[in-house]
Amino acid sequence: MRKHIFNAGPCVLSDMARENTSKAILDLDGIGQSIMEVSHRSKEFITIFNETVDLFKEILSVPEGYSVLFLGGGASMQFCMIPFNFLNNKAAYLDTGTWSTKAIKEARLFGEVDVVASSADDNFLHIPKGYTIPDDVDYFHITTNNTIKGTEILKDIDSPVPLMADMSSDILSRPVDVSKYDIIYGGAQKNLGPAGVTFVIIKDEILERVTRSNIPTMLKYRTQVEKGSMFNTPPVTAIFTVRETLRWVKSMGGLEVMNKLAQAKSDLLYNAIDNSSMFTGTVPVEDRSRMNICFVMTEKYKDKEADFISFAASRSCVGIKGHRSVGGFRASCYNALEIDGVQALVDAMNDYEKANA
Ligand SMILES: *Cc1c(COP(=O)(O)O)cnc(C)c1O
Repeated sequence: MRKHIFNAGPCVLSDMARENTSKAILDLDGIGQSIMEVSHRSKEFITIFNETVDLFKEILSVPEGYSVLFLGGGASMQFCMIPFNFLNNKAAYLDTGTWSTKAIKEARLFGEVDVVASSADDNFLHIPKGYTIPDDVDYFHITTNNTIKGTEILKDIDSPVPLMADMSSDILSRPVDVSKYDIIYGGAQKNLGPAGVTFVIIKDEILERVTRSNIPTMLKYRTQVEKGSMFNTPPVTAIFTVRETLRWVKSMGGLEVMNKLAQAKSDLLYNAIDNSSMFTGTVPVEDRSRMNICFVMTEKYKDKEADFISFAASRSCVGIKGHRSVGGFRASCYNALEIDGVQALVDAMNDYEKANA
């Protein structure tokens, strides 16, 4: 039986994406070759690639003047590519958790970093507010959803300098005003597809700001834009699954529908947490992530956390163990997780509480 998959990443994929990928792995559209065997320069793959880019642009309403790339290296490679290309003197970063901290560490290899605000002293359990973005920096970098601590910036912010955003774990969960950003990037393995491919939405104009001359060819955005992500062999099979995921998102009604579903699923689970005497949330209401829902057991029941993870697994709910830096539970409710899965977890919580409180 299919489980309810709450994994933080790689994570649940839609039935449509899994089924069509499995068919294409055996035989791509009846051409007698697997998607794993076709040339990335074949007309079959170029058609798939172009549709993937077009669908991504359509679903996210990406304005004119932006390019979409599908690269290898993960979001983590972008942590160094962004400063390598754009940090000429000083950049500003918002420090909201493990992933931003890693991005900051890479940026420091290339220049000065101004950490405009950080919630480190609160174990990153909230989003810092009331900071000012300096206007004398090369760019400002944010992580919109903090996958590990379960906090999220749900509004597109205004920035006086180019805005770079890691949207690995909340891309496609809501409509985004792409025009406010200069780069949006992320690993595909949370809302967009399987591991192995990274998306980058980049404003073409910003390429003019690159002044460093010693950037390796592979790490230059200009190379990747000019070669249409085909400077080297892109992750062909992973891109196929991204296309299937985008087709699924479109068939579901696009981002307005994904946004409503994300709200409904997270409301269902947070309500259960807030109405429980056994479970409690770890993030203040205004900063709660809709994608990664973190909670723990109250002091009195702390020793039952491991037991509840087994109990939830017996109800087919898998992947809810919290990250070691927070403990407790993290239920990741990405786009492809159906609301029935969240209901199954809520039922498991209620039943467990009845039996053990
Ligand atoms: C998962 C994740 C990453 C790391 O992605 P990789 O593709 O594994 O490099 C970076 N940032 C955020 C917000 C993530 O959730």
